[in-house]
Amino acid sequence: MGPAALTTDTTPAIVARATDGLGTASIIGAYARSVPSLTREEAAERADLLVVREYDIDLDVTGAADTTHFGSTVRIQFSCRRPGATTFVELKEATGVEAVLNGRRLDPASLVDNRLPLPGLAAENELVVRASMAYSNTGEGLHRFTDPGDGAVYLYGQSFLDDAQRIFACFDQADLKAPVTMAVSAPPGWEVAANGPATRTANGRWEFAPTPPIPPYLVSLLAGAYHVRADEHDGIPLRLFCRRSLAAHLDKDLQEIFDVTRACFDRYHEMFGVRYPFGKYDQAFVPEFNAGAMENAGLVTFRDEYVFRSSVTVAERQERAQVIAHEMAHMWFGNLVTMRWWDDLWLNESFAEYMGYRVVAEVTQFHGAWTEFAVGRKGWGYAADQRPSTHPVAPESVPDAGLALLNFDGISYAKGAAVLRQLAEWIGDEAFLAGLRHHFTRHAYGNATLDDLLTSLGTATSRDLRGWADAWLRRAEVNTLRPHVTRDADGRYASVTVEQTAPPAHPTLRPHRLGIGVYSGGSLRHRVLVDLDPAVDAGRTAVAELAGVEAGELLLVNDGDLAYAKIRLDEPDRAGLPRILPSIVDPLARALLWSSVLDSVRDAEVPVGELVALCAAALPAETELATFRDVVTATVRAVDQYCPPEAQAAARGALARAGLAAMVRAEPGSERQLAAARGYVACAGEDDASQLRGWLDDSSPPPGLRMDEELRWHVLLRLAALGHVDEAEIDAEYERDRSAQGAEHAATCRAARPDPAAKADVWRAIIEDGSLSNRIALALASGFWQPNQGELTRPYVSRYFEQMPGLAARRTPAVVFDVARTAFPAYSVEPETLAAAERLLSTPDVSPTLHRVVVDLADELRRALAARRLGAGHAAAG
Ligand SMILES: [Zn+2]
Repeated sequence: MGPAALTTDTTPAIVARATDGLGTASIIGAYARSVPSLTREEAAERADLLVVREYDIDLDVTGAADTTHFGSTVRIQFSCRRPGATTFVELKEATGVEAVLNGRRLDPASLVDNRLPLPGLAAENELVVRASMAYSNTGEGLHRFTDPGDGAVYLYGQSFLDDAQRIFACFDQADLKAPVTMAVSAPPGWEVAANGPATRTANGRWEFAPTPPIPPYLVSLLAGAYHVRADEHDGIPLRLFCRRSLAAHLDKDLQEIFDVTRACFDRYHEMFGVRYPFGKYDQAFVPEFNAGAMENAGLVTFRDEYVFRSSVTVAERQERAQVIAHEMAHMWFGNLVTMRWWDDLWLNESFAEYMGYRVVAEVTQFHGAWTEFAVGRKGWGYAADQRPSTHPVAPESVPDAGLALLNFDGISYAKGAAVLRQLAEWIGDEAFLAGLRHHFTRHAYGNATLDDLLTSLGTATSRDLRGWADAWLRRAEVNTLRPHVTRDADGRYASVTVEQTAPPAHPTLRPHRLGIGVYSGGSLRHRVLVDLDPAVDAGRTAVAELAGVEAGELLLVNDGDLAYAKIRLDEPDRAGLPRILPSIVDPLARALLWSSVLDSVRDAEVPVGELVALCAAALPAETELATFRDVVTATVRAVDQYCPPEAQAAARGALARAGLAAMVRAEPGSERQLAAARGYVACAGEDDASQLRGWLDDSSPPPGLRMDEELRWHVLLRLAALGHVDEAEIDAEYERDRSAQGAEHAATCRAARPDPAAKADVWRAIIEDGSLSNRIALALASGFWQPNQGELTRPYVSRYFEQMPGLAARRTPAVVFDVARTAFPAYSVEPETLAAAERLLSTPDVSPTLHRVVVDLADELRRALAARRLGAGHAAAG
């Protein structure tokens, strides 16, 4: 799965208007009851008992009058190793259940929560379950969406992580794989797709060929008024799907998307030695998707913000390419060879993430992928790895499927990928790929564990993989690498030592292979590759190769970004950064420097003012647009949380001027101009309001800048947060852009207005309105808190902690996770907020999802308080 986009620029805004109900009114508003999640022990027991032979699924989505339920019939053939035993099958949100096991009718009343007991199993069994299942509007199960632009209806299935049981009764675990045959009855005129290739039999009837063995979580389908485009590559039929209202935008990018798809297939075939195993390859862009994308076998689903309807920069196109490559890597990592249980989630995500970046950088036009990884993506990993909830890349045990959802974080993705990059470097790429080919051949169509992977890699290298895995995969947290440098009288390095330190709670020093670069005049003058081996040097590695080398303006540990570690600079180098950073030619080296300063600020080692000063000096010259975007996003957040309120306006002002300076340097109409304009808007304060108003009114837009839908909403949101927009103007903008995205943006703008009545309405909707779709709820939550509205929103700080447990009990996991995180009072950097969070955490029976969110965001508050103390200290000293 691909996580949701991380940057605010590309994170979709939400909502159909909460009041007009478009996209929501036809959906059942019932709150989901929380049901027990399958435990690791239960899964192991059931896998030991059963062999599933086949799923035969028949869905009926014709009900024109019934927009709340669909018909689901499944026939499951399975063997039982201990005849006479009892097990259970899962189904959620089902009514009118009829179940027949080996010709025997089961009592539907025996269905408790999501489990239907199957007593008295024979050696060979046939189970038929027929039920009326609920559509969802939260991106879980079979999602139903009505396009506010044209009223067209779209369905898509999201089975991950244990939501296949919302679509059909199944043994919902990763290591019970079976071929899946599907048939769908749909309204005439709809397009329908599923995992296997289709035959359209009668008008509205679709039959799909059986798949190779797959787990339930990879089963998906699409049905609706989808726009379809087809092509073919190397014998693989390729198709793309999107909503009709996005057709022109998809068609415009068809060539690019197919080119990336083709290039990735070729490279994976070359690397993996096993051909793509699922026949045809469909990629569908679907509405209101929770994640970035999902790797359903043969039918990948993507959030449809990846169909760009407004101008974008190379950063967004690179991200889309990376997600395409990521999902395709899953066809091998996860789909051909599947983890046995969720504790090996990293076998899916870390590999897909690593391969996604690697292959995009290697074989597409987007050679800068690893540079983006160095700032935004790894920053996400470092942050997650230092929170109270940190966990190893490969945890020893994940107790149940519900808890597995919480590990879709910067550790399973970014850290895992960085660690694999380090592994390939440490054992050599040929050995790495040979080990992977062995793994695919040995476990094809089956399941595997960390141990199996190490065994396969061990056939190709004599390195101590078990020791490596223990240090890197089984232990949490990130270490810090810091150079200690002495120079002689002639301006040469007398000595260079790299010190590795680990946090006290996780005192593991690790082996690293990394580059050290010496820069002068903006260019790399000298580079060495060194091994840090704490077993030999106890964490202080002397770099003998640099002794006597002419000292540079900058010594960069981890040059080339092979390592996963926080990097610090020698003190004189850091002091010179505002001068040195903009002069450096290599975008990856600049990315590492930005990353180093950002996490030094996060650690309260460097005051946020120093970061703002660096932005003022170096951002206007930053030509790598993903870096520009990620630095602006992280810095604005740092200012809003780490600067005391009285200093925020000045800091934002300095950032806004850097954004304007970057715009001045950019060609009119260029992507760089767009990136700079977005950065400026994100930082804009009261002094900028009239300028932004001129952009929006078309009276004084910057020459060449296209004020298209997304940029208009971006500006309107900023003006709304500053108090310069009324309801009527938001309504008018929505009339102008009556689309799914327009509806979400309108909701965010409404939530952002500093109007007490509007805030009260929005808060009530977030907490109480169970009919809101996942995206509308998220859109409202993402607009609600604004850093300049502290007094106005103060009463809601305590309400968050009082009311969120209730919401967590009523709504589904995806909604709880997004809303609890986004509606958290992150700008209320006060000891009282932290105390309220701690009280919530100490109450019994807090839902695990809410607990995870609050424990981590409380830690972010703790960091913000520390950063403010540091800033105050510097202000006093200065
Ligand atoms: Zn993934």
